[in-house]
Amino acid sequence: MHTDIAIIGGGPAGLQAALSIGRIHRDAVLFDDGRYRNATVSHMHNVVGNDGTPPDEFRALARKQLAAYDTVSVREERVESVEEVDGTFHLRVADGTTLTAYAVVLATGVRDALPAVPGLEDLWGDLVAHCPFCHGHELSGGRIGIVGAAIAPHMSAMLRRIASELVVFSDGEPLPEDWDARPEVRTERLVSVERHDGGVRVTLERPDGERSHDQVSGLFVKPTMTQSAPFAEQLGLALNPSGCIRVDEFGRTSRPGVFAGGDLAHLPAYPMPMASVTMAAAAGQVAASGAIMTVLSR
Ligand SMILES: Cc1cc2nc3c(=O)[nH]c(=O)nc-3n(C[C@H](O)[C@H](O)[C@H](O)COP(=O)(O)OP(=O)(O)OC[C@H]3O[C@@H](n4cnc5c(N)ncnc54)[C@H](O)[C@@H]3O)c2cc1C
Repeated sequence: MHTDIAIIGGGPAGLQAALSIGRIHRDAVLFDDGRYRNATVSHMHNVVGNDGTPPDEFRALARKQLAAYDTVSVREERVESVEEVDGTFHLRVADGTTLTAYAVVLATGVRDALPAVPGLEDLWGDLVAHCPFCHGHELSGGRIGIVGAAIAPHMSAMLRRIASELVVFSDGEPLPEDWDARPEVRTERLVSVERHDGGVRVTLERPDGERSHDQVSGLFVKPTMTQSAPFAEQLGLALNPSGCIRVDEFGRTSRPGVFAGGDLAHLPAYPMPMASVTMAAAAGQVAASGAIMTVLSR
């Protein structure tokens, strides 16, 4: 089996890439193994025209609209490896088949590892989040908690107008000394968090073992992001210090014929991946344009 462009990933980046390729009537196969970064989120925000739309509805509509383009097909399969042989890419798929392609768009996203506090995972994407643009407004007027000293100055500045009160749970980490506008800080060990009374109950422990509770409407944390698929490594792609794939303004990676867009990649000019639905879709479109340019002469 052969296609012009293989797209790996069916989140906003991969779906937009597929749409752009379909509109030029080039062949593409999109692979999606159903593991989306925002899988635990009931409503996404800060997406123009889709503020509050459930992410699964967004993806379902994109898939429905893609069905109008005969040259694009979607396979609900995991790609296990990508290898380049004489300028053609060979994708090994989990069902045992192989697909070859002239170009590849990687849109496999990232995985989040949360701070090791019991209970955070259960509330992730609901009462625990990492992005004030995505989740801040829904917590407005409440007492909002920030987990970790390193993110506290920036995060508290971002949330200052949204929260009625802010509290930093530093979990014993040292706070920056030159931080003037600091809100309430609780330095005790963070024992656990749990859903309680419409918000989050935080259990803390002092060095002498005495425990206490704090109640907040929601918590902000900093996850550690890692590539969710092995293709950057398999293809020997250059990475940024963030661990994301280095791309240029056209979504080109360090290997000709391989393009990347979405959370897994970013331009070195950005200090970090600008990880959002809109940015991922835009990057998917750019990566698709780059990939189309490489197959135009075929
Ligand atoms: C808790 C949380 C809340 C968020 N809320 C918002 C919000 O409100 N607004 C907003 O704009 N952004 C939000 N985001 C960010 C947003 O989810 C991401 O920026 C966006 O999903 C990135 O899109 P993507 O296409 O790069 O990756 P993803 O959406 O993660 O899609 C990755 C795709 O790759 C596929 N894949 C991975 N490996 C393979 C493989 N080997 N074979 C086949 N397929 C594979 C997956 O199955 C999936 O289809 C949130 C993120 C989190 C974690």
